[in-house]
Amino acid sequence: MCIRRESGCGAPCEPVPSGDNAWGAQPAKQPSCTMFSRLSKLAAQWRRIGLGLVFPPRCAHCDAELEEPADGIVLCGPCRESLSPPGWSYCRRCGGIASPAYPQLDRCEWCRNTRLHFDTVVSLGPYHGELKSAVLRMKRPDGEVLAETMGILYYHDRLNDVLALNPELVVPVPMHWARRLHRATNSAELLAAALSGRLRLRYNPRALIRCRNTLPQRDLPPMKRFQNVRGAFRLHHSAGVKAARVLLVDDILTTGATCSEAAKVLKDAGAAMVAVAVLARAEGDQFA
Ligand SMILES: [Zn+2]
Ligand SMILES: [Zn+2]
Repeated sequence: MCIRRESGCGAPCEPVPSGDNAWGAQPAKQPSCTMFSRLSKLAAQWRRIGLGLVFPPRCAHCDAELEEPADGIVLCGPCRESLSPPGWSYCRRCGGIASPAYPQLDRCEWCRNTRLHFDTVVSLGPYHGELKSAVLRMKRPDGEVLAETMGILYYHDRLNDVLALNPELVVPVPMHWARRLHRATNSAELLAAALSGRLRLRYNPRALIRCRNTLPQRDLPPMKRFQNVRGAFRLHHSAGVKAARVLLVDDILTTGATCSEAAKVLKDAGAAMVAVAVLARAEGDQFA
């Protein structure tokens, strides 16, 4: 049995049981929990330390030379400003861009007709411009430093909104193992780790498992996306989930279908509240 323990997880990793799961789909055969992930993190740490000794720090987004990264945010002034736009107002229910028709911001034209299983969304900004570019770059194998920096930036700029929700547990939206092998990194996990560390909250990156490798959401029209992710997640390590107020972390939210399905599994497992922490909110016709 794998004995890896994540900070705050508290439960040993076990092999995925065989047989059908609750949705009738075949469970994912996730590589053993995973040595690969640990090695890649270690390599990234050494790379960072080594580079830091030889080269001065540079902005994680535009590569400009930095004097001294402030608050652990490895960004230059102009990038910091463009990646966290001031005055961004959004719907608290789904993170959608606020419209004049629903200025109260607790419900918008999109979510008033859509069933979402999460309770609220706290986003950093809209999915365009520099924030869109950063979200896309974070997904690359060399996007780890940028992803961690964006997690810390989110913490600094959305701290009050997040604390108002009284979260107790941080859970990233997981990636299917086959996609992870291809990408080598899950930016949602890097964001969640950075965020939970700053918030000093329990972190359980194995709470959920993505048991079905779904079609990329960007290839589907908005309503098909809910169908596409149905039964795509299941509970893996339930440690800390029951009765917890959960912060579910992802990099981008478009229709909310993926986060809603993940939130449903957490709620079914007894979570008292699921709030989505997301960097960028795209409108329904934008693609990741
Ligand atoms: Zn910069
Ligand atoms: Zn809304």
